[in-house]
Amino acid sequence: MKQLKDEIIYEVNRRKTFAIISHPDAGKTTMTEKLLLYGGAIRLAGSVKARKASKYAVSDWMDIEKQRGISVTSSVMQFDYNDYCINILDTPGHQDFSEDTYRTLIAADSAVMLIDGAKGVEEQTIKLFHVCRMRGIPIFTFINKMDRASKDPFELMEELENVLGIRSFPMNWPIGIDGDFKGVYNRKLSQIELFGGGNHGQTAVSSTIGKVDDKIFADLLGEHYHKRLCEEIELLDMAGDEFDKKKVLTGELTPIFFGSAMTNFGVQPFLEEFLLMAPSPGIRPASGIEVDPESESFSGFIFKIQANMNPTHRDRIAFMRICSGRFGKGMSVYHVQAGKEIRLSQPQQFMAQERTIVEQAYAGDIIGLFDPGIFNIGDTLCGNDLKVKFDGIPIFPAEHFARVSAADSMKRKQFLKGITQLSEEGAVQAFKQIDIGIEALVIGAVGALQFEVLEHRLKKEYGVDLRIQHLPYKMARWISNEELDPRKLSLTSSTMIATDKLDRYVLLFENEWSIRWAEERNKGLILTDIA
Ligand code: GDP
Repeated sequence: MKQLKDEIIYEVNRRKTFAIISHPDAGKTTMTEKLLLYGGAIRLAGSVKARKASKYAVSDWMDIEKQRGISVTSSVMQFDYNDYCINILDTPGHQDFSEDTYRTLIAADSAVMLIDGAKGVEEQTIKLFHVCRMRGIPIFTFINKMDRASKDPFELMEELENVLGIRSFPMNWPIGIDGDFKGVYNRKLSQIELFGGGNHGQTAVSSTIGKVDDKIFADLLGEHYHKRLCEEIELLDMAGDEFDKKKVLTGELTPIFFGSAMTNFGVQPFLEEFLLMAPSPGIRPASGIEVDPESESFSGFIFKIQANMNPTHRDRIAFMRICSGRFGKGMSVYHVQAGKEIRLSQPQQFMAQERTIVEQAYAGDIIGLFDPGIFNIGDTLCGNDLKVKFDGIPIFPAEHFARVSAADSMKRKQFLKGITQLSEEGAVQAFKQIDIGIEALVIGAVGALQFEVLEHRLKKEYGVDLRIQHLPYKMARWISNEELDPRKLSLTSSTMIATDKLDRYVLLFENEWSIRWAEERNKGLILTDIA
């Protein structure tokens, strides 16, 4: 047994499981590609994107993706770098932003926040950041596209503080931000790393070591840039936050790296620093106890279910994050929510989007399980010797709502079956308006594309055509006061009272103003946005 324990400890400690959070176009695909290149997982830059377009074109469910040139499927990429085993979890963006995007963050141990240097903190980044904050995971910031003109780096730091409420510590500092990028000053090594131009990382970056006010740097950069750099570094050293690894690990301080993913500048130094600082899989709370990743007893939870990934089988893949123990092919596990033992015969792992059969996996790894329809989001799987139940995955705030019914009322049964199935997968949230006799359900979605997916899947899988009437609601708030009758509340005329699938009361609002109205007119009312 000693051997197994040692093996698990070794494997857990070399694992780094993270997600890249960003707003569309900030360069996430480019960055992912560069990271995979370093790990040797892919040979050619460009192949992640190319795959996006070609590989899944065969599937009918993927029609939507193909038409829109987006990817709903790429999920996890695992590769080795030096002695590390890295799992990058993909957070779907663009129009396919959905609950899955948020849920992925529950499976990650840290996040890389990628920001376009010219644009600063954008909307989607803010939403994803808040989920990371809620979990208290470390966040590493990479400010991208520094090869182009960017915002002032002090201004960017201020934005992080004012918009996201997080302090930052620049690990390096850009030189020449007005479209004349010279490189960065590495604060830890007191070293200037020179930008070689748009060679896409074919050649190594040249660098020179010295004190920031050394003459050698003045010669290298020219007086104008050198003077500015000296002033800025002095200011940072004096007025900036101190580096505090503890604060980084609790998500209170974010290390910032400036660079350019496309030209491959600063990506490798970033990766190496990140790997030194980012946590390996840690302890996870489960039904009041803490599950140790190095324990020999197996445990994991399902955080995402994807339907019909393989067009030749009508299958679903349930994505499980392993939290402890060693997973082996064909092993039997206890499915806590169903209360029975099951055998996992076809586990799959994803490497740069190729599916391979997994032989062994450890805490931090994500594996895809063939799902004949037995799993739900949030389910726990564990060994018989460790019967635990991981804390549920929250329902994230829907922002789009529509009244949905079967176009043909004879198909009501299939309609309900389909909706139930999709809401179990977590693809949509189903609500029922209270006290009205109509058959339509109110469907909430985190991303607008989810309605198209819903329409497509109900037609293909259940033979039901939908009638969809979009509604002006933007926010759902759960009423935390259990004893309260929402009919007695003073609400604006545009607020809808509904129940969710667990019969909990929910209020649907059109804007912040009506939420404030509800809170101000009804003393003691407690509303929450994540159920
Ligand atoms: P995603 O939507 O976040 O996945 O972004 P992509 O990786 O597809 O990048 C969006 C656009 O920004 C593409 O045209 C990239 O070539 C470009 N881009 C990415 N990184 C950089 C960079 O470091 N510098 C510049 N100038 N462009 C970049």
